[in-house]
Amino acid sequence: MKKNYLDNPGSLKIDLMLRGTRIDDPVVKAWACGASGVDIMLPQNTLVNIPCSEMFTEESPYVIKKSGDGYIITDGTGTVPVSLVPKPKYYSLKTSTGVPFSKIGVFHGSYTVITPSPRCDFFNRGIECRYCAGNFDVRGVENQVYSVEEVLETVAAVLKEGASGIIYLSTGFSPGPDGGIEFLKPYIKAIKKRHNCLVAVETLPPKEDRWIDETYALGADSVLYNLEIFDKELFEFLCPGREKLIGRKRYMDALEHAAKIFPNGTVASHLIVGLEPPGSTCMGIDFLTGIGVVPILPIYRPSTDRALRIGPLTTEIIIPVYKHLYKKVKINKINFKWVRDLSMVTTPLEVRALVDVNEGAKNSIIENFYKSKIGLKTAWGLSTLRRKLRVKDSRDPSDSSGRE
Ligand code: SF4
Repeated sequence: MKKNYLDNPGSLKIDLMLRGTRIDDPVVKAWACGASGVDIMLPQNTLVNIPCSEMFTEESPYVIKKSGDGYIITDGTGTVPVSLVPKPKYYSLKTSTGVPFSKIGVFHGSYTVITPSPRCDFFNRGIECRYCAGNFDVRGVENQVYSVEEVLETVAAVLKEGASGIIYLSTGFSPGPDGGIEFLKPYIKAIKKRHNCLVAVETLPPKEDRWIDETYALGADSVLYNLEIFDKELFEFLCPGREKLIGRKRYMDALEHAAKIFPNGTVASHLIVGLEPPGSTCMGIDFLTGIGVVPILPIYRPSTDRALRIGPLTTEIIIPVYKHLYKKVKINKINFKWVRDLSMVTTPLEVRALVDVNEGAKNSIIENFYKSKIGLKTAWGLSTLRRKLRVKDSRDPSDSSGRE
């Protein structure tokens, strides 16, 4: 039976993030749909960023259309009213040095991401993550570094407009034992001194725990070390740089230490849905919540040259994973209110609408799921992906066995 998700904004958000949308309005297309998708407000104030430019979105049953003075999304069987999320006004302004604020601060709903030096040294070593969109690849171009003053001006513009209350500072991989926190230090200190806002920091895990203590001492309110893939074998294969120069165990140990230092609910880690079987994502959720870390589950967006999505992957398969997430953060008494109103991921708060809590307490949703036919099919998908990846791998000289 064909599933219809229009009635529940939580499941509709997941289905839209997975399948994307087409846009039947040239004005919206030109205005809203860039490489990073279109931001839409669904019913019940549910914010979603929907892929709309990748090839896979051409197959989507969803279309955004004009209707009277507003907009609707339809899947051909029904409609829901939606509104376009306007781009923040600061996007049209510049720093005193002439840099557009939109280049420095990227708006994502409740938080704005600032990457003072958008580069990742994994690219220079040819060991970048295989799913990476390549935004931090600066080979052959001069690396841009935004000054502390430029970042402070951007934060001031974001806060003045009330666009976001959380500033999220990020870095790619850089050599050195500190994971990137030494580079971010002057930015964190200046923002905390000059502005009244929360600062989240995303770096790679430092070699020693003292840098995590330092991150907290600097005034960071939240920290993210993104494991991204829980399955050991897939982590090694898909993240060669992380595996070689940091190690999966160091991610786990650093997250565990951070969760002991930072307040409950402020240490988080991404697990990307669609790059490993849902069962592995659920094991990752169990591990992370067990050490007091909030799992954040973005959905992988395949592109033509990075078609790594594991299959079959449908909203029917994904929803139990999000339900599992909700159940585990509740059982482990993790405060998940910090992670809310995000357009790019489904948050535990949004999943609440999908869960019958009493039923969830009685049954293990995920155990039942994996005994189902669809769960078995998903397990089959892992070997398919592994084979696919081995075939595609031309960088690993040790990999000769799996090539076909
Ligand atoms: S750590 Fe991986 S995903 Fe992040 S920028 Fe570097 S290569 Fe890309």
